[in-house]
Amino acid sequence: MEIRSVAVIGAGTMGAGIAQVCAQVGWQTRLFDAFPEGLDAGMARIDAFWDKGIARGKTTSEQKAEWRANLTAVSDLSEAVAEVDLVIEAVPEIMELKQQIFADLGRLAPAHAILGTNTSGLSIGDIANASGRPEQVIGMHFFNPVPIMKLLELVRHDGISDETIDAARTIGEAIGKTTILVNDVPGFATSRLGVVIGNEAIRMLADGVASASDIDTAMRLGYKHPMGPLELTDLVGLDVRCDILNNLAESFNDESYRPHPLLVKLVEAGDLGKKTGKGFYDWTSGEKVERNGT
Ligand code: NAD
Repeated sequence: MEIRSVAVIGAGTMGAGIAQVCAQVGWQTRLFDAFPEGLDAGMARIDAFWDKGIARGKTTSEQKAEWRANLTAVSDLSEAVAEVDLVIEAVPEIMELKQQIFADLGRLAPAHAILGTNTSGLSIGDIANASGRPEQVIGMHFFNPVPIMKLLELVRHDGISDETIDAARTIGEAIGKTTILVNDVPGFATSRLGVVIGNEAIRMLADGVASASDIDTAMRLGYKHPMGPLELTDLVGLDVRCDILNNLAESFNDESYRPHPLLVKLVEAGDLGKKTGKGFYDWTSGEKVERNGT
């Protein structure tokens, strides 16, 4: 199946990145968000990424104009998904919200469309069943920042068709990603391990084992991780990681997955990481600065 057009639902950190890579390969891309400020921020983030590329000599203004022409901001869901070949959902990690979106997509998206969800760890089967056409639904788990990260974790569930898996593999290849195929187990192959390391790093910070930057340096230099677990949590979003941990605790009925109280405290304070300016570090100056008292 050839993809020519795509709708991305949710214009946040991930949705904007996904829309960007789709526009860059020449697909007619519609970016939808339920909130006007979310849509504006998503479009601005894409523009800023391209402008940075121009400033660094990695791309040209002509190239940007071509990509930009493939991208449309849309504030109506039925308009966003009309006649598209692919829909990728990237709304917050809340099961009821995703099921509502997939119920809408089941009614509104074209009969042939592949429906992907970028959930980090919720049950793909439970999301797929809400659509009324689970055979066309697949987990398409991208990584942040989407234009840079090479992995696309595909997640299959019991009701999926082989055609949908094949199509998703082809889609991944077309946008320059390496795909892996994983079964529908909470946290998949990546999120579970990632959030557990992050939560333990937060416990160590709270226990006074070392400073945030020393914990991060331990993993970067000692284990060759490209980024430390606290810095990574700031990049991903503290709220996103908190939601994943709560979902794991509930899915496995295991309280050891619960987010550490320090993570909960920061989320409640609105310190969600780089996107709000503060998390385990202070990013407001544009640089990473250690915070005291987190
Ligand atoms: P985000 O909070 O940055 O963005 C979510 C966007 O969805 C916001 O713009 C919000 O306005 C919009 N939204 C809320 N309700 C909506 C609705 N009903 N319809 C349309 N849009 C709506 O979140 P994010 O970090 O982009 O995460 C989105 C999804 O991607 C989550 O499922 C998350 O678990 C997953 N994910 C996140 C990361 C990451 O690093 N942040 C990585 C992989 C997967």
